[in-house]
Amino acid sequence: MSAAVDDVLALARPDIRALQPYQHATWDPSLERMHANEMPWRAQGDNTAAGLNRYPEPQPQSLLERMALLYGAPARRLLVGRGSDEAIDLLVRAFCRAGQDRVVITPPTFGFYRVAARIQGAGVIEVPLRRADFALEPDAVIEAGRGAKIVFLCSPNNPTGNLLEESAMLDVVRALAGRALVCVDEAYLEFTSRASLASRIDEFPNLVVLRTLSKAYALAGARLGTLIAAEGVVALLRRIIPPYALPASTVEQVLALTEAPQRAMAADRIQTLLEERSRMRERLAAVALVSRVWPSDANFLLVEFRDATRALAAGRSAGLLVRDFSAAPGLAQCLRISVGTPTQNHRLLAALEAA
Ligand code: PMP
Repeated sequence: MSAAVDDVLALARPDIRALQPYQHATWDPSLERMHANEMPWRAQGDNTAAGLNRYPEPQPQSLLERMALLYGAPARRLLVGRGSDEAIDLLVRAFCRAGQDRVVITPPTFGFYRVAARIQGAGVIEVPLRRADFALEPDAVIEAGRGAKIVFLCSPNNPTGNLLEESAMLDVVRALAGRALVCVDEAYLEFTSRASLASRIDEFPNLVVLRTLSKAYALAGARLGTLIAAEGVVALLRRIIPPYALPASTVEQVLALTEAPQRAMAADRIQTLLEERSRMRERLAAVALVSRVWPSDANFLLVEFRDATRALAAGRSAGLLVRDFSAAPGLAQCLRISVGTPTQNHRLLAALEAA
C-alpha cells in the first residue's frame, strides 16, 4: 500500500484498525452449505434466485461489478451498503473517536452528516456556504478541516441544489492530504453533466465519493448506496459494516433493475425531469407568493416564499407534501420542492397561484 494511503489509514480510529472483524460464514457457491446454521429448505413462496433461507454474499461481486459499470470506477474501490446513509455512518464510526474527533459540514446541507457524527459522539464544525450563492468557501473549510477527521461536501448540494466548484473542492482535498478525509456526496450528480470526482482518487487517497441509486435510478426503496475510495479505506470499512448488510432480495432486484434498458429509461426520465424543472422554475418565479427560486443542478428546487407557512398549507390542501426548511439557518421562508410528474407539478403550481 502506498505511503499516501497509509497516511489516510493512520487517521482512522486505532481500535478499529486493530479490530478482529466478524468472520462471515465462508462464501463458496460451488459447495453445499452445512456451515451457517441455515434451514436447508426455502420458505413457501420464496421465488428468489439465491433462496432467502441462505445468508447472502457479504459484498456481492456481481453487484460491485454493476456499480463499477454505473460509476466508472474499479470494483475493488467500491463498498456497497444500505443507502449512502450507511456509508456516511460507517465513515464517521471508522474515523472519529467519541468525544475527541470532529467532522466539518457546510450548512445548509444534507442533515445526516451531522446526525451521524452526533450519534458517534463526534464534534461538528460548521463552515457555512457563502450566503449569496451557496458557494463553497475553501479557505475556511481547509482551516476547519485541519482540526477534523472528515469534511463532508455535497455536490450538487441538498437542499440548495447547486454544484460546488470542482477546483474549490479539489483545493480542499489537496490541502488536507494526510490530515483529513474529504467525502464528496454526489447523490444528485446524474442530474448534471459534471464528471464524478471518483476518477481523482488515484491522485488523492484522502478523497471519498458517495453515489446512490435512490435518485436518478428511482430505487430509493431498495436502499443501495456505493462508497468509492482508495482500496485501503474500502478494506477498513468492510471490517465494520454489519454482517450480511445487503438482503439477497435487494441485490437480485437491483441487478435486474439496473440492466441496459433500465439505464436507458433512467437517462430519458432525467431529461424529462430537467425539462419539468426548468418549466417549474419559470412558473414558480411568476407566482405572487414566491420571492425567489434558486437555480438547481438537482431534481428539486429551493424556493423562498413571502409566506412559507401559507405555501406549505396550500400544497397540503392540494394533497402535496413539500419540505419545510424555513427553520434552517440561512433558509428563512424556504421550502424545497422535489420535481414531480407534470401532473403533480401542475397541481402544486395551481395551489400556490391560488394561495
Ligand atoms: N446524500 C444526500 C445529499 C441526500 O440528499 C440523500 C437523501 N436525501 C442521501 C445522501 C441519502 O441517500 P440514500 O438513499 O442513498 O441513503
